[in-house]
Amino acid sequence: MQRLFGTNGVRGVSNEDMSPELALKLGKAIGTFFQGNIIIATDTRTSNEMLKNAVIAGLISTGCNVFDAKIAPSPALQYYVKNSDADAGVIITASHNPPEFNGIKVIDKDGVELSRNKEKEIEKIYFNEKFVRVAWNELGKVYDVDILDFYIEGILSLINEDEIRKKNFKVVLDCCNGAACFTMPYLVSQVAKVITLNAQPDGNFPGRQPEPTPESIRELMKAVKEFDADLGVAYDGDADRAIFVDENGNFVYGDKSLAIMAGFKVEKKRGKVVTPVSTSSCVEEYVKAKGGEIVYTKVGAPIVARKMLEINAVFGGEENGGLIFPEHQFCRDGGMATMAMLELLAIKNKKLSELVEKVPKYYLIKTKVKCNNKKEVMEKLKEKIDAKKFDFTDGIKAFFDNGWVLIRPSGTEPIIRIYAEGKSQKDAEKIAEKYKKMVEKVAK
Ligand code: MG
Repeated sequence: MQRLFGTNGVRGVSNEDMSPELALKLGKAIGTFFQGNIIIATDTRTSNEMLKNAVIAGLISTGCNVFDAKIAPSPALQYYVKNSDADAGVIITASHNPPEFNGIKVIDKDGVELSRNKEKEIEKIYFNEKFVRVAWNELGKVYDVDILDFYIEGILSLINEDEIRKKNFKVVLDCCNGAACFTMPYLVSQVAKVITLNAQPDGNFPGRQPEPTPESIRELMKAVKEFDADLGVAYDGDADRAIFVDENGNFVYGDKSLAIMAGFKVEKKRGKVVTPVSTSSCVEEYVKAKGGEIVYTKVGAPIVARKMLEINAVFGGEENGGLIFPEHQFCRDGGMATMAMLELLAIKNKKLSELVEKVPKYYLIKTKVKCNNKKEVMEKLKEKIDAKKFDFTDGIKAFFDNGWVLIRPSGTEPIIRIYAEGKSQKDAEKIAEKYKKMVEKVAK
């Protein structure tokens, strides 16, 4: 069976892999599968109208009604799908990928990204071309829908606004010229003074690359210092991820903000925190010290979200700035993460740098090895690696006295990924080097 969906929906270069033909056919497959009311939204990419209109044409040919939410963050669409009687949602976005990319992601009725099983059903319809085709007088209709206020109000209803307002915070928001432009300045200005960067929607992403990294958000780090702000926040293209900058203009890595937020949540309500096996041990150590428990999953935000639902977790997230607040919804949400971080800073009455200082320090190195026979290589590695303890949740995670290594085959590419974490940079380098060599040797 051919595969269409990767770890983050269907993705590729606009008007090459992500062609209007593909979008039309996928729209027909999604419509055939759901047969109902579908909400659709896009981020700001230059190909958003082309792909959205092709998907809509496909959907209405199967009799589905479509509600067009225009440009909106992924979590805003997911929140609307979850809280309305829609049967599904479709987002046209390539999230943090460079501007030439775009993608199509399908959201289930509960607001969570579609499970792999349902994706397989849609792939089957797509490749077998067994589409529903309704008569001319049964074609679906297209309506406009405004989902942004509903999303903003939903977040505000969960946040102690007064507590934040008392602090007179100054916040710099880097909206990445993406979907965040349509919500974040409005949301944060309800409770704090806001300065924006890259807040004009532009699919060429002239301000910076959509992925928030220490290199790409240098302007934000500078602005936080220059404006003497309390916090900086950077979003990716569809605003489901938020990366923070402390009051000194320092980049706060996503594992640190995940640890801080998870610790705060378990202090309030003891329980389980869900995160993928690739997450730094700093999260587990910090959460355990606050009386919480960590549950590990395979890598992938929808997998984390579905696990949280299953075990009634109090919090969850990934090391890339994707935080999941179950009281709000079961998906990553950059807007909720921002407001929750402001609330946390207000209640704790601490600077972000002081909180980061308390998180245990670990060093993570990510690398990869080309490999065409992943399955075979992984089997051989299992026999070869000698460790104190193993975890086989996703690939092989082997624990040593000075750190751990995670070796996992990519779901979509002919590569094996290696994550090495150590208690010092040197330890991490040593582990990464040793296991990269081992994988390369076995993969030969
Ligand atoms: Mg994203």
